[in-house]
Amino acid sequence: MTDKTGKTLVRRTAWPVSSSRPVVTPLQASVVYASASPDALDQIYEGAAPGYSYAREAHPNADVLATKIDAMEGTGGGFITGSGMAAITAMAMALLKSGDHVVGGNQLYGRSMRMMAEELPRLGVETGLADPTDAASFAAAIRPNTRVVLLEVVSNPTLRVSDVAGIAAICRERGILLAIDNTFTTPRGFQPYDHGADIVLHSVTKLLAGHSDATLGYVSAREPDHRAAMLGTAVTLGLTPSPFDCWLAERGLYSFELRYDRAEANAGALADALAEMPGVRRVLYPTRPDHPDHNRAVALLGARGGNMVSFEIDGGRAAANRLVKAAGQIPFAPTLGDIGTILSHPATSSHRALTSERRAELGMSEGFFRVSVGVEESGTLIEEFATAVASAMG
Ligand SMILES: *Cc1c(COP(=O)(O)O)cnc(C)c1O
Repeated sequence: MTDKTGKTLVRRTAWPVSSSRPVVTPLQASVVYASASPDALDQIYEGAAPGYSYAREAHPNADVLATKIDAMEGTGGGFITGSGMAAITAMAMALLKSGDHVVGGNQLYGRSMRMMAEELPRLGVETGLADPTDAASFAAAIRPNTRVVLLEVVSNPTLRVSDVAGIAAICRERGILLAIDNTFTTPRGFQPYDHGADIVLHSVTKLLAGHSDATLGYVSAREPDHRAAMLGTAVTLGLTPSPFDCWLAERGLYSFELRYDRAEANAGALADALAEMPGVRRVLYPTRPDHPDHNRAVALLGARGGNMVSFEIDGGRAAANRLVKAAGQIPFAPTLGDIGTILSHPATSSHRALTSERRAELGMSEGFFRVSVGVEESGTLIEEFATAVASAMG
């Protein structure tokens, strides 16, 4: 690129000077940062002067977002990763080595399950699964070389509530690190560091960012050594995020509490309405008295039932197809935490790899649906589901 006289225009134009400052966090896309001198660069690397050098190591949009989520979780030093799975990878690669053992809940997020079943064993890390609603099951799964327990507070998609207190007590007693994936419950619904967590993980992709337009994760630790180890691993393995995704997520985060509270109120109302609809065999919502872990849900989550509702209809796959068609305005897609309601069918998506026997054991038939409830006006939402269920029963 040259000007009219042939002189280069490739050198970047200086940023326009302004005596006012932007209200919105600037999006800093730069991959590299220029320093004034080798001495100045040296100081940045030594931590003697503030500054960035290369975006895989750190960049302002990630730091701004991480600081916000840290504050919500009541911690410091957390960092952002390129996805929720990248956060779990950073944790596993930094804190586990060949010969260690890790125990996970037996209803973890699908890819976390695959990491336990395939990736970690391939690297010499032994893995086991246990029933998170039963601390005795975890006690039985633990071995002398168990280093980490990976837990979700509310399981996907059957919304079972983990015995966090019981499992945290076992971890504390045996010196095992308790890593809690707080994606479903969010810092608004549950505070893992108040319940014995050593590591907190998020898929920021879901409720925190909230608009299904950015894929990101977050991880923090109680111990500074663990934080430093995870960050070093994340930077080396390239698990760090894009500035634009961080910028989008920060924008979404400002409305997180409003979205969450509204979606949660809608979810409670939808659960109660579904329970009354002919053809609905059962409804799962943590704060409903008929939930299998109701007492624990109340003790752990109080009135915070969250935005997820699951239900089962009569009539198997054929009825399920009719329900999805009749609910045409509600996206049928395998994600959660969007601003709008999203419907998913675990038997054909997240849990398709399981045998139908295993799905039946977990209570996930062909008529089983999971709803990630959004912020719509509640009456409309209930009407849409009433129509969809009635069509399914057709
Ligand atoms: C989605 C999800 C993940 C993975 O997050 P990505 O951002 O999709 O990589 C991990 N844990 C839970 C509970 C999730 O819902």
